[in-house]
Amino acid sequence: MNLQSLGAAGTVTGSCHLLTLGGQRLLVDCGLFQGDEHLEARNREAFPFEAGDLSAVLLTHAHLDHVGRLPLLIRRGYKGPIYCTPPTLKLAETVLLDSARLQVEGYKQDVQRARRMNREADVPQPLYDEEDVHRTVALMRPLLEFGQTLTVGQVKVRAERAGHILGSAYLILDSSEGRVICSGDLGNRESGLQQDFTPPPEADAVLIETTYANRTHRPLAETLAEFRDVLNQSVRLGGKILIPSFAIERAQAILYYLKTLMDAGDVPRVPIFLDSPMAARATHEYFEFGDELIPKVREALRSGQDPFKPSTLHVVTSSAESQRINRYDGAAIIIAGNGMMSGGRIQHHLKHQLWKPSTSLVIVSYQSPSSLGGRIVAGADHVHLLGEDVAVKAHVHTIGGFSAHADQDDLLSWLDTTGQAHIWLVHGEAQVMDEFLPILAERGRVADRVPRRGAVNLEQTHFAGGKPPGEVDEVSRGVGQAE
Ligand SMILES: [Zn+2]
Repeated sequence: MNLQSLGAAGTVTGSCHLLTLGGQRLLVDCGLFQGDEHLEARNREAFPFEAGDLSAVLLTHAHLDHVGRLPLLIRRGYKGPIYCTPPTLKLAETVLLDSARLQVEGYKQDVQRARRMNREADVPQPLYDEEDVHRTVALMRPLLEFGQTLTVGQVKVRAERAGHILGSAYLILDSSEGRVICSGDLGNRESGLQQDFTPPPEADAVLIETTYANRTHRPLAETLAEFRDVLNQSVRLGGKILIPSFAIERAQAILYYLKTLMDAGDVPRVPIFLDSPMAARATHEYFEFGDELIPKVREALRSGQDPFKPSTLHVVTSSAESQRINRYDGAAIIIAGNGMMSGGRIQHHLKHQLWKPSTSLVIVSYQSPSSLGGRIVAGADHVHLLGEDVAVKAHVHTIGGFSAHADQDDLLSWLDTTGQAHIWLVHGEAQVMDEFLPILAERGRVADRVPRRGAVNLEQTHFAGGKPPGEVDEVSRGVGQAE
């Protein structure tokens, strides 16, 4: 059983793992690198294999850092099946179309700027367009169902609930050579809309994500109390309350918590604007696949209620309507993308509101230090936004407990049932993995960081101290979106 990681090795984005087992070449996820320019340049690198030689592609979930390079793979000649769960197909289509549109728009803007300097030819082409996405979606087969087995050549593939976002799965791959499990992203058992992950079976090797392998999330009750207090404080200021949010899972969870707090009378019923067409579209899938969700939400859906619709919610569709929110007087909550404020409609709200001391910026998502959000969290007093310098006078609150990722306790609990499987650490910053390695060693587990280059034999390779030799850590560059 051989593994070559083509992303998410010593970093949190670009998940893409090539597994060779049972005579098959299986690609698990094909995600986009996100973060700074250096990292994003890796999206343009060639795949170190012929796309046509792959037996199949398997997806764990629909986040862009797990599916965002699929249209490139198709452009480079892949014509085989892409297996996923039914919700992943629906969400991935939404995510990829949005990604294609952003790339094409970004390209047009860059060309316009470059034209003034007569350097049009230097602007890199978009990675892919909507047509590539349609060709990708046509290859997607929603045949992975929790607890059921699919046969790919000599390999049996079983998907189990990962509890991270709607449709998220971890994959159990069985062949005559042994069993390997790929965790994908695992969920936070404390909060969120998803049911907890299913305990995995014993295996010979596991790949496990390590985004938050060095920390413990606050209990949900504490996080909700913090959210309630911040909202009350912000409403008293009388200004806008901006909540930057990712469109899938976080937006729906925030709407659900806002409804719960308002219905209980814990937060005043101020207007809420959901200013994210992608979040509005994704919310439809939460209705269609409502049986996947935690019992309270499931029951609400079954009894015909809308758990994602606080009574004061306005869903904003057109960009003209989005602009008009800024003329609205008084306290109001605005939920808009993107989550790290590096693009999307949140930017014009920030431009109009960030300089006012009555504004509150409530951060509920991970902010990479190099992003606009990261700079605001770090205390920047001015930021450059849509061509202007804007002073940061707003009250900035960070609420960390809404993460959709497993914390250290969750990861250890998931690993508990995997027997003596050789553990391979992926999808985490190198220094986080280095904190996790001794904890695993104390528990008598053999664990290694997946090397960034080259293939490893999953059972027979073990590096001294779990660290691949000769690798320079890409530490503290602050990259990646950890979704
Ligand atoms: Zn994810």
